[in-house]
Amino acid sequence: MPTYTFRCKECGEEYTVFTSYSKVEEVRCPRCSSKEKERVYRKVSFSVQGGSSSCGGNCSGCSGCG
Ligand SMILES: [Zn+2]
Repeated sequence: MPTYTFRCKECGEEYTVFTSYSKVEEVRCPRCSSKEKERVYRKVSFSVQGGSSSCGGNCSGCSGCG
């Protein structure tokens, strides 16, 4: 399950949820139950260069997909 961090547009609460992408629309603010939210992109320690599995195994072209 991917982790999504949102900021509520109603009350400004930031919250993180574990959910599938298709369920993101249904995620509600834990504080005010609003669905109005914006995605917050955290700086993650992803290595962009030379990662063997940076594509997630979906491109069939990189070294990680073999
Ligand atoms: Zn809220």
